[in-house]
Amino acid sequence: MKKDECIFCKIANGKIPSATLYEDRNFRVVLDVGPATKGHALILTKEHFDDIFDIDAETAGRLFSLASVVARAMKKVLHCDGMNVLQNNGSIAGQTVFHFHLHLIPRYEGDSVQITWPQGTLEEETKEELIQLIKKEI
Ligand code: 5GP
Ligand code: ZN
Repeated sequence: MKKDECIFCKIANGKIPSATLYEDRNFRVVLDVGPATKGHALILTKEHFDDIFDIDAETAGRLFSLASVVARAMKKVLHCDGMNVLQNNGSIAGQTVFHFHLHLIPRYEGDSVQITWPQGTLEEETKEELIQLIKKEI
């Protein structure tokens, strides 16, 4: 998709109005239009990045720093019991808008959100292989 057609570029840069909770030079925090729970918010980068594989580490670091501040403010106001911080990359992972965004999903006792997966087993051979291969790429 061309960046000038990207809906989150338009929202982040104020070309489409949004329910904005916070804005600075790099980020805009908005309420999700299809909230999982009350207060579900998204942190959008103003610059277009497709996903976590595309965003630079410095921006990602600043974004997570902001996430901790916003999460605390939300908890104080919403009195939620917990929060999921979620970030989807690729259709297979549930990404539907291909502009980097971080979900802050307040959780309440008895809500109907489900973020679970069947637990596997970390085999010894796989463990060694993954350590070998990934360690040297970081
Ligand atoms: P993803 O599935 O890509 O991780 O998340 C996309 C999120 O963006 C969804 O939770 C969806 O409700 C939200 N969303 C999609 N379009 C808009 C929009 O135009 N405005 C806002 N505020 N949220 C949107
Ligand atoms: Zn974009």
